[in-house]
Amino acid sequence: MLQTTPVSAPATELPPAPQPTLAGLTRAALANALGQIGVPEKQRRMRVGQLSSWMYVRGVRSFDDMTDVSKDLRSRLAERFSLERPEIVSEQVSIDGTRKWLLRLPIRGHDRRAPEIETVYIPESDRGTLCISSQVGCTLSCSFCHTGTQRLVRNLEPHEIVGQILMARDRIGDWPGATPPEDSRLLPEGDRKITNIVLMGMGEPLYNFENVRDAMEVAADGDGLSMSKRRITLSTSGVVPEIGRWGAEAGTMLAISLHAVRDELRDELVPINRKYPIKELLDACRNYPGLTNARRITFEYVMLEGINDSLADARELVRLLAGIPAKINLIPFNPWPGSSYTCSSWDQIERFADVVNRAGYASPVRTPRGRDILAACGQLKSESEKLRASERGAALTDGGS
Ligand code: SAH
Ligand code: SF4
Repeated sequence: MLQTTPVSAPATELPPAPQPTLAGLTRAALANALGQIGVPEKQRRMRVGQLSSWMYVRGVRSFDDMTDVSKDLRSRLAERFSLERPEIVSEQVSIDGTRKWLLRLPIRGHDRRAPEIETVYIPESDRGTLCISSQVGCTLSCSFCHTGTQRLVRNLEPHEIVGQILMARDRIGDWPGATPPEDSRLLPEGDRKITNIVLMGMGEPLYNFENVRDAMEVAADGDGLSMSKRRITLSTSGVVPEIGRWGAEAGTMLAISLHAVRDELRDELVPINRKYPIKELLDACRNYPGLTNARRITFEYVMLEGINDSLADARELVRLLAGIPAKINLIPFNPWPGSSYTCSSWDQIERFADVVNRAGYASPVRTPRGRDILAACGQLKSESEKLRASERGAALTDGGS
């Protein structure tokens, strides 16, 4: 009689797909995941509450630490799911304490290679701001923005957006009882090290509306990450039809990348202006829900030498914004390899700021941070492009950059 010998898996077989993570999921998605492992419907709400509390209040990274969840359920969870965050490819720390992470996301669908995004943390004495990405690349091509030269690879999923917050809190020890990082001297003084979130990393967040909205729901959940919506700011290049909807459905603070006061110039700098010109954009701003003097819209204005930085432009800017509860943020242009603009001179920025100041807008110039690690606005592509695959293997650099 012939003996059957077990046949080993063919060498070409792909490694098993990593277990899907629960870290960063919304309450609804968590309930769904619990359903998949047979948790009865009437128990799911309570279980979701437990999971959220462990993942988002305590930051646990192992199901074993969830001590009020039965052993049996913990092992069923661990069989099917993980609590992984996005994979960190590199971490850079600037001399001013700014941290930048290059993150690799799992390959999905038609992705040809693992997509990468960047997340930046900017500490100040009284606050810590996390700048997160909403897309891999961007479909828009603002002429001064490095991300805009990269095609859109894909939208981020809600858990990949929340995952950036969880990862950053892990790295800077921003969980109850966590050990602070080696170089913690520049972290803010309060208990929470991440107090503000800005959707100003890679991508146009209003072109990934639902996923960004769901992610911000997780971020603002009072029984979870508990960020105040007044400390979450979405920045948009001006996707007019989605602005009011964002206000109604998400209700965070809003920043508008204005950058020019005439349509002709804005058409060139921020090409979405051809579709939604300045007047329509400002009308949408006027109607943004919940605007008051305590809840103003931030208007971002990048300072480009000889392009948009004349004092006539400054006066027109102030005139255009009259009647809108607004803050003005002048951003020194951050050059990148191949960019065709120069940043306005410091003198010109000051003269421009004076006009804006005299109209009643306080401290309008944004201090550039993390320049030594290319972490500034609009530079979030260069570093990932510069890094070769062989260099990426380098261990995380905790200390200096
Ligand atoms: N896509 C969104 C959010 C990401 S960009 C938006 O455009 O608003 C975040 C901010 O950085 C925007 O105001 C953008 O105009 C600005 N920015 C882009 N490139 C820049 C550069 N090279 N220097 C300074 N600011 C830049
Ligand atoms: Fe996209 Fe914003 Fe860059 Fe414009 S400025 S290309 S919208 S990321």
